[in-house]
Amino acid sequence: MNHNLFSLLRARFPEEREAPFISTPEGRSLPYSALDELTARLAGALRQLGLARGERLVMLIDKSPEAILLYLAVLRLGAILVPLNTAYTAREFRYFLNDSQPKVVILRPDLDPEQHEAAQDTGARTATLDTCNGGSLPKLAMATHPLDTVEPVNKDDIAAILYTSGTTGQPKGAMLTHGNLASNGLALHRIWGFRPGDVLLHPLPVFHVHGLFVAVHCAMLNGSPMLYLPKFDPALVTDQLPQATVMMGVPTFYSRLLEHEAFNRSACENIRLFISGSAPLLRQTWEAFHRQTGHKILERYGMSEAGMIASNPLDGDRLPGTVGFPLPEIKVRVSDRNGKPLPRGETGVLEVKGPNLFAGYWGKPEMNTTEFRADGFFISGDLAVMNDNGRITIVGRDRDLVITGGFNVYPKEVEDCLNQLPGVKESAVIGVPHPDFGEALVALIAGEENTVPSEQTVITALKRNLAGFKVPRRIIRLDALPKNAMGKVQKNTLRETYADVIKN
Ligand code: AMP
Repeated sequence: MNHNLFSLLRARFPEEREAPFISTPEGRSLPYSALDELTARLAGALRQLGLARGERLVMLIDKSPEAILLYLAVLRLGAILVPLNTAYTAREFRYFLNDSQPKVVILRPDLDPEQHEAAQDTGARTATLDTCNGGSLPKLAMATHPLDTVEPVNKDDIAAILYTSGTTGQPKGAMLTHGNLASNGLALHRIWGFRPGDVLLHPLPVFHVHGLFVAVHCAMLNGSPMLYLPKFDPALVTDQLPQATVMMGVPTFYSRLLEHEAFNRSACENIRLFISGSAPLLRQTWEAFHRQTGHKILERYGMSEAGMIASNPLDGDRLPGTVGFPLPEIKVRVSDRNGKPLPRGETGVLEVKGPNLFAGYWGKPEMNTTEFRADGFFISGDLAVMNDNGRITIVGRDRDLVITGGFNVYPKEVEDCLNQLPGVKESAVIGVPHPDFGEALVALIAGEENTVPSEQTVITALKRNLAGFKVPRRIIRLDALPKNAMGKVQKNTLRETYADVIKN
């Protein structure tokens, strides 16, 4: 049997092949009938560029229907997709290229020349692709013989590498297999009750597990159309909602919709399910959304390394502040730092095991022992508590990862940049509550008053090296950082002290 995920998705194409697969607000529409040929053409072009089974393709392009076609073409070839956020600077981009060693890099044509240069430097073959099917890749696809086969792969062959921040501050590539993606997609499709007639509203980015896998796989396994938005925009979402039945989003989307004038109960009349995840959904947002629309947002929990792990039930109580129950076939336990399972009701580190669990970090086999327990459970790094019924509440992150507007920021990376600035002795970057972004970054820098650069100078300097979402909103100077007896900076104290520093 061929375990290639593409075969599974293709088997679920609707019988009515002319039914739409992707429709965009600008009026572009792609039927399911076109998928076979378009992905075969792209696969032919990628093969020409040297991409073969097990080789990596880095995708650094804006969200477009072509990005999904590219993903499907990579699956067909049995190659490995490495999707990246186009907001990365050339310096960050170089790290991912050096780490993933791609055979092929697909770039947005108008990217910074430095980014193009970085791709050339790795020795990878490069091609361009824009959001209107322009660029050198589509040209090559038209001039190349289509490759209409689907490479036979095993369940545990790698389909994608998703980069995620880690304790060392350096992003690590989580290797996801065809089996991981298939099992998770099928489970979500079932538990969220996807049915004939469903239409998915897709405002999420596609370089992340949520938009690329959860959303796209659920729609495709249902043979459903996706209303595919270039990005989240409350006006556009409000405008498209009446045509959709299911929407997936991060908490920020929901708080922004609530603030949008035209968003109201009648815009949501056709929707059967609003799903939220990737960051904690504030109870206030859940309640306000319920009051305003009558809808109980279904919150689920997951991570790049394990896809979706737990979900509130479709039927049954959706409780704000909780992430519900483990998905079918997925085992979750809460343990202490040594891996000893804790009794129900006690807070500890969430550990997970199941067919969803990734195959380890790319190029880091040593982490198979540090990040996993001997019995195969993965140590998620999230703190959680399970009640007597097995319902899970995520109470925080064990590490200090900050999630701002749905984007993960690892403080150490920002601190490393800050510490290099003249006059800065040391620094601590924390996340503080933010009504819109969930959390916003604040940097505390220690140094003499007359030698530390001004807030604006620091922000300008950081912007040269970091994507905008990693640049702190506020820079605050302190004489010294608070430390415990062991010399560790007490970030909890900082978070409490500066909780109100950002009002909006
Ligand atoms: P990522 O790998 O980018 O998907 O980020 C995964 C992390 O996001 C998890 O380890 C959690 O810390 C956080 N996360 C995802 N969903 C939720 C949720 N519903 N509630 C709280 N945290 C969440």
